[in-house]
Amino acid sequence: MKLTYLVNNPEEFAADSLKGFIAAYENYVQPVHGGVVRTNGSPQGETALVVGGGSGHYPAFAGWVGPGIAHGAVCGNVFASPSASQVRSVVKAADNGGGVVLLFGNYAGDVLHFGNGAEQLRAEGIDVRIVTISDDIASNSPDKHDDRRGIAGDLFVVKIAGAAAAAGKDVDSVEAVARRANERTRSLGVAFSGCTLPGAQSPLFTVASGTFGLGLGIHGEKGISNHEMLPARDIAQMLVEKVLAEEPPRENGYQGRVGVLLNGLGATKYEELFVLYGSVVELLEQRGLQIVAPVVDEQVTSLDMAGVSLSICFLDAELEEYWLAAADTPAFRRGALSAAESAAPTRRIVPNEEEFAIPAGSPESAACAEKAAKILEVFENTARAAEADLGRMDAIAGDGDHGQGMTLGTTAAAKAARACVSAKAGVRTLLVRAGAAWAEGAGGTSGALWGAALGRTGNSLSDERAPSTREILQAVAAGARAVPEMGGAKVGDKTMVDAIIPFAEGIEKRLDSAEPLAAIWAAAAAEAQAAAEATANISAQKGRARTHGDASIGTPDPGAISFSLLMRAAAATLS
Ligand code: ADP
Ligand code: MG
Repeated sequence: MKLTYLVNNPEEFAADSLKGFIAAYENYVQPVHGGVVRTNGSPQGETALVVGGGSGHYPAFAGWVGPGIAHGAVCGNVFASPSASQVRSVVKAADNGGGVVLLFGNYAGDVLHFGNGAEQLRAEGIDVRIVTISDDIASNSPDKHDDRRGIAGDLFVVKIAGAAAAAGKDVDSVEAVARRANERTRSLGVAFSGCTLPGAQSPLFTVASGTFGLGLGIHGEKGISNHEMLPARDIAQMLVEKVLAEEPPRENGYQGRVGVLLNGLGATKYEELFVLYGSVVELLEQRGLQIVAPVVDEQVTSLDMAGVSLSICFLDAELEEYWLAAADTPAFRRGALSAAESAAPTRRIVPNEEEFAIPAGSPESAACAEKAAKILEVFENTARAAEADLGRMDAIAGDGDHGQGMTLGTTAAAKAARACVSAKAGVRTLLVRAGAAWAEGAGGTSGALWGAALGRTGNSLSDERAPSTREILQAVAAGARAVPEMGGAKVGDKTMVDAIIPFAEGIEKRLDSAEPLAAIWAAAAAEAQAAAEATANISAQKGRARTHGDASIGTPDPGAISFSLLMRAAAATLS
């Protein structure tokens, strides 16, 4: 049995850990809503680099905040994307007026939340660019490098982009060099054991003894193939061969000079990393490569997972200059900052904890809001009861956090709803705020999509009038239809959309029925449930589970199942 030894309340693990990290490195980082920014700010006009993602990967991402690398880090829950409002808050604190480059691993949840945050920030006049990191060669074919997921190669892209920003490059140039660093970086890892979420009683996956998994992910996604255990030199051979299969031609500025990162995943001894690195060096030199400033270290971890990944960045002169440039952050230091860099005048950062007063609605709309709050309360109880089952379902082809995400999301939504009821808010305000709280509390793909659905439902209603049954049904169907619109999934991709569309159609075809709301809702929920169960027969085409698509055959999609569970619970409450 594996456990996380040092934990208070598992749900607060990421927040507790961040708090201690900030206390330990207060000369580097200070807290803002949603994450951290540099303690000493940075020069006015300097392009700001904001990194981020879920927690559980330290040093990624907050450990890279400091002169020479990042200006801020957005910190989500364990293995869950931060929310759009967290992104917005950290970017606003980090921005020096020179534009901001957002860098994060290419995961659906992060793409959604960072994308939503960037859209809001652009509306506020901040020039925000997005570069997603996609270095993991196990996660997609070479012609789809941009669709791959991001793992330890994050370090190269972040370090290089940060050095370009520190060198005074404008936002266009920093964005361009970050893109080139990502195009030039390839990683592949092996897993010897799975990782355990704080508070969980067992790891997200296991690796049979005497074997290892090749092509691991960093969120408990197990390897894509299993192999008999080999001596370290043969594992080195396997990693080097596969990564170098994608070496670009030695032309156009690339002459075989490479940055190398041998990264421990969290529970692999440094001495073991060095054993492997000894073989890696020999193999790279045999191929005529020259290694530039290698890093053998833990830089992108996956909680307590045992394993190692090899990342190689195929350098040109500019990438090499930035890879070698000085940096001083809690977890990555190189060389010495120039006197000018150390003495540069900086901008004071104003902490920006955001609070908004809740406007009251009409008594009619507030009465409807109370009913909505009751349903969200039922969502919370239903999600808690199903948490373990949903987690197990998600662990089969995804990352095992869907149960936790649903509990965190529904809990946050129900809490926001209670605050709105106390303030006598209308139903529109209540649902919009509950949606934002859900997305923020849950992180993850499903949290962003549920947040969008609640937000759309709320925006289809009013804070003044009491909605008719028909208006409620239309608003709920509109909310459901926001999910495929935001997430891009179609029916048959094996996502929550497979249950949501039948639910929306079930409601829409009964709009003019004379039956009461509860009966219509129950009928549509039953159709959603049948569709959710039928997803067991197909393989996943979207989201994290796509990488392990066929492994999911025989198990229904967790997001579809949780959706139908909640809709049935809502129907029962309405009647
Ligand atoms: P994450 O995938 O970020 O870990 P969760 O585990 O909370 O998020 O949710 C997983 C569920 O999200 C999947 O079972 C699927 O139903 C849903 N999902 C993933 N990607 C999409 C998408 N693009 N559109 C709709 N639903 C999606
Ligand atoms: Mg998941």
